[in-house]
Amino acid sequence: MKETQILLVEDEEKLARFVELELLHEGYNVTKSGNGREALDLALQENYDLILLDIMLPGLNGLEVLRRLLREKEVPVILLTARDAVMDKVSGLDAGAVDYITKPFAIEELLARIRVALKLHRSTSGKSGTPVQEEGILSWGELTLDELRHRVRYGGHEISLTNREFLMLKTLLENKDIVLSRDTLLDRVCGYDFVGETNIVDVYIRYLRSKIDDVFGVKMIHTVRGVGYVIKSEI
Ligand code: CA
Repeated sequence: MKETQILLVEDEEKLARFVELELLHEGYNVTKSGNGREALDLALQENYDLILLDIMLPGLNGLEVLRRLLREKEVPVILLTARDAVMDKVSGLDAGAVDYITKPFAIEELLARIRVALKLHRSTSGKSGTPVQEEGILSWGELTLDELRHRVRYGGHEISLTNREFLMLKTLLENKDIVLSRDTLLDRVCGYDFVGETNIVDVYIRYLRSKIDDVFGVKMIHTVRGVGYVIKSEI
């Protein structure tokens, strides 16, 4: 199989070097650039399978790189954003980035996001067409979450969740097998501008467990000590 080519655009040399080593270790082929203009040229000339794109860059801002690039070709882009750069995340996703990760990040989370982005891209761009999951339905064993109808069921039983519990469950199900940090969950569930303690995440996890795990005698949500939470695809 052809090697997966990743373009890493990051001007913080130490971070770039660290991520590059991890990617190489995972068997990816890596090209590095610390300049937005150079990165855009590279991305337009070469066919990368995925691009990791910092936003604050010399030469050309990452969001501008993203916009100009996606006008020309389709490629999955994961943004590397600063903790407090709310508008960058929103604008980046609006501009067509498939995902973002907030710095500082755990390398395992970045690697997992890369795997998911590559998998999704391959399955949507592949002509042979693997069966697509029913629109708006996420599932785990007997559990189904219906995004459009805002409904969660286990077997035939309806589970009543608050908005934030629903969002938390949806986020975990969308990222099956990826350990999500409390910060990430907080971002996704409470919004980028939420000010408060990250332990609110633990509170919602507890509610979800009491409504699902405890009631149906399953172990859906796993705690990864010191990191965060995960729903595993295998039951
Ligand atoms: Ca930067």
